Amino acid sequence: MIETCILKCTACNIVYSVPSNDPDINLLDKNIRCPLYPCTGAITKLAETTIPVKAIPVKAVELYQAYVLGFPDQHTYSLTDILNFINGKRISRVELDQGLIETRPIIRSITIEIDDNRTKTIHLASSTAGVIILKITEDALCL
Ligand SMILES: [Zn+2]
Repeated sequence: MIETCILKCTACNIVYSVPSNDPDINLLDKNIRCPLYPCTGAITKLAETTIPVKAIPVKAVELYQAYVLGFPDQHTYSLTDILNFINGKRISRVELDQGLIETRPIIRSITIEIDDNRTKTIHLASSTAGVIILKITEDALCL
């Protein structure tokens, strides 16, 4: 039987499981932030060896990268996917930062209402070719 590493967010209590024989398991020794937007809690290893029912199975490298890049299903979209996702939807929140030029704020994310109970946030980043979509997260309304 393969042993499992159980990890939990100290803020929202989401639980992940990673097989202990994962080749990138050492990445989980570093400081990892919770990938469940907008939570920014710390992910810590638990001493438990029994996998909780609610644990989400992930690869170590996916969990390590998820806070910034999102999980693979959060950053694999086509142009058509994005257009269908955004067009006709209501924007409920925009996250801005002050840029170097006072009249040119930086848009960090745009949150869109999917329905009465769900929102999704498009996280943006810059690239040499323009603004890119870093990831799209389903927002945790319980935080
Ligand atoms: Zn969390």
